[in-house]
Amino acid sequence: TENSIKTSTQLNKKNIQNGNKDDFFARKQRLAQQRKSLPIASVEKRLVEEVRKNDTLIIVGETGSGKTTQLPQFLFNGGFCREGKVIGVTQPRRVAAVTVAKRVAEECGVELGQRVGYSIRFEDMTSNSTRIKYMTDGLLLREALLDPFLSRYAVIIVDEAHERTVHTDVLLGLLKNVQKARSQSSSQQCNTEKNKSHNNSAMDDNENSQCFSLLIPCQGRKYPPLKLIIMSASLDAKGFSDYFGGAKAVHIQGRQHPVDILYTLHAERDFLEAALITVFQIHLEEGPGDILVFLTGQEEIESMERLVKDRVQQLPEDKHKIQTVPIFSSLPSEQQMLVFRPAPSGFRKVILATNIAETSVTIPGIKYVIDPGLVKARCYNPRTGMESLITIPTSKAQALQRSGRAGREGPGKCFRLYPESEFAKLADSTVPEIKRCNLSNVILQLKALGVDDIIGFDFMEKPSRMAIVKSLEHLFLLGALTDDYKLSNPVGNQMARLPLDPIYAKSLILASEFNCLEEMLITVAMLSVDSIFYTPREKMKEARDAKKSFASQEGDHLTLMNVFRTSAEFLEKRKMSGSKDKTAERSLGKWCRDNFINSRSLKHARDIHSQIRGHVEQMGLRVTSCGDEMLQFRRCLAASFFLNAALKQPDGSYRALANSQIVRIHPSSVFFRTKPECIIFNELVRTNDDFIRNITRIDPLWLPELAPQYFAAQS
Ligand code: ADP
Ligand code: MG
Repeated sequence: TENSIKTSTQLNKKNIQNGNKDDFFARKQRLAQQRKSLPIASVEKRLVEEVRKNDTLIIVGETGSGKTTQLPQFLFNGGFCREGKVIGVTQPRRVAAVTVAKRVAEECGVELGQRVGYSIRFEDMTSNSTRIKYMTDGLLLREALLDPFLSRYAVIIVDEAHERTVHTDVLLGLLKNVQKARSQSSSQQCNTEKNKSHNNSAMDDNENSQCFSLLIPCQGRKYPPLKLIIMSASLDAKGFSDYFGGAKAVHIQGRQHPVDILYTLHAERDFLEAALITVFQIHLEEGPGDILVFLTGQEEIESMERLVKDRVQQLPEDKHKIQTVPIFSSLPSEQQMLVFRPAPSGFRKVILATNIAETSVTIPGIKYVIDPGLVKARCYNPRTGMESLITIPTSKAQALQRSGRAGREGPGKCFRLYPESEFAKLADSTVPEIKRCNLSNVILQLKALGVDDIIGFDFMEKPSRMAIVKSLEHLFLLGALTDDYKLSNPVGNQMARLPLDPIYAKSLILASEFNCLEEMLITVAMLSVDSIFYTPREKMKEARDAKKSFASQEGDHLTLMNVFRTSAEFLEKRKMSGSKDKTAERSLGKWCRDNFINSRSLKHARDIHSQIRGHVEQMGLRVTSCGDEMLQFRRCLAASFFLNAALKQPDGSYRALANSQIVRIHPSSVFFRTKPECIIFNELVRTNDDFIRNITRIDPLWLPELAPQYFAAQS
């Protein structure tokens, strides 16, 4: 039977190919044509030559000039993948890694995951034959844990370096060392003793001030030099060049048509409403062309999607031709590509994007840009040790990048939803993330890589000493570091191996001791995605009732777990009663709609769940369930998140025990109305107030018992 199945699918494939043969060739030709017309195409030879001549190269070019999609192909054709070596391209964002890999696989005429592939946290689409590999910057950092010389790579391209994510910044420092270590390995004998002494006298010259202990014993093995390419959209080549000891920079000319910039007369109070009005103003008054709207996150994008769909219904029939397409990082990858598909003829496409569309992905067909001038950013207060997500104004550089998106193919218009006087007040460029985020995650990884002296690490831009010290303290409290700030064993090592925030990694390790790892895996997966519940404005009551059916008196964590388990049971039942996987998935989609559950987020959570389950099993942790003993699970939550414990105040607000900060319960929590005395929470969101989300009720007496390292010392 196996044989017959094979032939029938082969037959099917053949039919499809024959059926679309003309389409297939027409498309192939069109792709080749598009590639040839990109600005970068005319400098292919020169670029390959520059990479050959320079071990480190900075490439700066307008967004859309073809850097990300073309350069790896040029290098592949230029012979940089000999002997099975790989060209790695890092992206700050998952979506970019995925969509670009798909595009390049298509341009090369290969199946995704073969010669061209991508790898992002929780999703690996590569194989042994992959030669061009797109990935997130964070993922390459993790790979370095297993392969400190990054020996599979002949070339590493750090793309979108101007974004200056914390991972990019750490990666740059790491790559600098790997490059040095690899060139030393090929030019001289590398032995442990000699390098040990070098490590001790490390501070004698700036260039060599850091050495990775893991990198040292190369045991006489020789590695070919590592080619390093830093790519960036904006013109700050000098900073990168200086950091890499005066590396050569080349500029690629882009094409940019004029863009009219329009401002509002007054500041807007509700930016979603303002954006909505602008969408329809363009739709009704301007000529053809797609619209790109910059929003701050999945939640805003999804409400905007619903608002546009509702408002369209109020227009006369002949004005209905609007198609909305969302794009944000946690969008399932099958849906991400829809943004590139042209709208049906006569339709206007309205792309609702996070700042991913600023430089990371170039979407063809855009003529109008709507820019509310906001971006969501992680923000860390080293004094309180709290990280929060806040919405802040973009920088001037970002505003310019955004408006530039309207002028890729012809003259365009950009509607900035703020007064012109505000523009002048914006910061010139964005503060690198490393200066404003919690460093626990990267410090843990650097420690695992053998970098002990974090303060002495050669960062392109040093984080404040206070932020480093606070994060070290935090890791110590979680048990990841010993009291002389070395990685602890096994806990610290295990934590570093899990692709999760240290606090979540620790919660899984603890859960295996509390016999509730099954529950914690679900919890961590559900906490890793945005907004599981949604509440459409016109169906507030129905949505609230639906949510009540999942609500747990113990808190939001158990509420989320109820959603996960009920949906899993539903799916299981469908499959048991004979539904095919696809059909069962489709009925799950309907189940989600009926229950006002965000099916995208739930799917994402299910994917993450199965991935981290694989990780913890591999690590040998025991996945057991505490059954109905929710007390056990809540105690485990308290033991894991003790740093985020808070006590109720007479006025109904809460005081965080760690730093006495006053916070309030977010309206989405089950505790918005009935407030328990003592809680732990997982997230702090700052809007007009400091709100906490994802909360569970605990007993305050548990704290000194379960986290004596913290609470015993405090009292
Ligand atoms: P850069 O990295 O210089 O910003 P890219 O290599 O990302 O440029 O993009 C080059 C061109 O390829 C752009 O004009 C863009 O429109 C097109 N492109 C990239 N990805 C896709 C895709 N998935 N579908 C259609 N066109 C794409
Ligand atoms: Mg690019």
